[in-house]
Amino acid sequence: MNAVLGAPRVEVALRWLAAAVGVLLLLMGLGFLVMPELLAAGILAAEPARAVGINSLRGDFGGLFLGMGLFTLAGTLTHHRRLLSVPIAFLALIVMGRLTSMIVDDLPVVTAGALAGEVLFVLVLSLSMRSSSVRGVADRRSVSAATLRLRVALALGVVAVIVVGAFQVQRQIGLRLLAAAASSQLAVDGLEALPDGLHVGLAGTGAPLPEQRRHGGCSFVLAGEHLFIVDSGPGSTKALELMRLPLADIRAVLLTHLHSDHMGGLGELMLKAWTRGARTEPLNVVGPEGVEQVVAGFNLAYSIDTGFRVAHHPPTIAAPEGAGGVAEAVKSFDADGAAVIFQAPDLKVTAFLVDHRPVKPAFGYRFDYKGRSVVISGDTLPSESLRRQTQGADILLHEALQPEMLQIIHDAGLRGGQPNAAQLSSDILTYHTFPEEVARIARDANVRHVVFHHFLPQVPMRIFHSAFLGGTRDIFPGPVTMGVEGMVFSLPPGTSDIQMGWLL
Ligand SMILES: [Zn+2]
Ligand SMILES: [Zn+2]
Repeated sequence: MNAVLGAPRVEVALRWLAAAVGVLLLLMGLGFLVMPELLAAGILAAEPARAVGINSLRGDFGGLFLGMGLFTLAGTLTHHRRLLSVPIAFLALIVMGRLTSMIVDDLPVVTAGALAGEVLFVLVLSLSMRSSSVRGVADRRSVSAATLRLRVALALGVVAVIVVGAFQVQRQIGLRLLAAAASSQLAVDGLEALPDGLHVGLAGTGAPLPEQRRHGGCSFVLAGEHLFIVDSGPGSTKALELMRLPLADIRAVLLTHLHSDHMGGLGELMLKAWTRGARTEPLNVVGPEGVEQVVAGFNLAYSIDTGFRVAHHPPTIAAPEGAGGVAEAVKSFDADGAAVIFQAPDLKVTAFLVDHRPVKPAFGYRFDYKGRSVVISGDTLPSESLRRQTQGADILLHEALQPEMLQIIHDAGLRGGQPNAAQLSSDILTYHTFPEEVARIARDANVRHVVFHHFLPQVPMRIFHSAFLGGTRDIFPGPVTMGVEGMVFSLPPGTSDIQMGWLL
């Protein structure tokens, strides 16, 4: 204690700051041990993949942060200041990992706050270690090995008691968290914070092949106050709800074509728009010929459920006249294969014919709002009408099929005695677009930003992105993004900006 009292004020201040960092790291370690998902969402902005992810969060992250916290406290409270070099080394490596991610990942940096915190921690700990170096020799002798061992044992004991205690009060923690989150979350409209402009968001970026983290095709376009949903693939309604879209406000659902991966979620979307949104009018569903039959089929399939809900809820929630959907087929096109299907001041929505034979007709959609534009390709081979409609678009959201990767799957199917899977992977080669072809179309049309979705085959991890894109980035000079559920691209009017954000 005398050594501390005699030390310069700066050194003492740094020492207490470093101790505070140690306590914070320790608390984070305890947090990862006791409530790993909450810490992951709050600090890492990451979602643990099932039980394996939670196990690793408790083990790896709990251990890492507890270790850094204990070494920091040992370095500040025992005069063995050189122990601080352990957390400094780990924090520096963590910072290096984050900087690497900023360079190699084509995603916006959502952990800038964490990066700043870690850099600050490194600074505080380094300064604290340096400021004591002159006095280090004398200080180190002042604590015997036995005392040090006792203190370390005490610290570990305190940690163990806190961990056991925290697990004992998990129920109370859960209920308090729910109470804090419920009132703020229930009323949130995910689109409320978006300024006036043209916005396109991804709620389903998958194709028919199963993929853990992707839903069937579904995007939304918000143009001023007009909200459109483009396609309603299986599972995508859940993503729209998690993104907190105001489903009651949907102006229309626009189907690109009637393959199940683009309309299999329509029944759920109509149901959720009706009950969660308390709609008093059925959902408008616009699409190619045959859409009447699809909507009638979903209306019929959900009619018994509709009856149950009308009987169970008051009309303010389940007004009978708001259930289901109303179909509208787009049948007449101009000589270029385009049809303006919606017009309002500053807004024009155009459906155009694409080439997805034998699926006929199949559409793409173009949205023009206050000088900004988004084109959604639908499923298609490269086609003239798509090239025309893509001219000058700010964003081209396009499907893609990677032939080389599909060939690998085809060969593996044959080798593994699965001829059906092999046949399927070669059949789909004939009615989709290769990434490099998308890049050429986008380059020739002066598109600003290409976003891919509807991946064939699956792209479950970032390590596959480069193989999937092939030479795309050599052909198209602008940014290329591999779409993920939750991404939102915003185009403010009067600018050429394209801002990327997240709603998940
Ligand atoms: Zn498809
Ligand atoms: Zn299709």
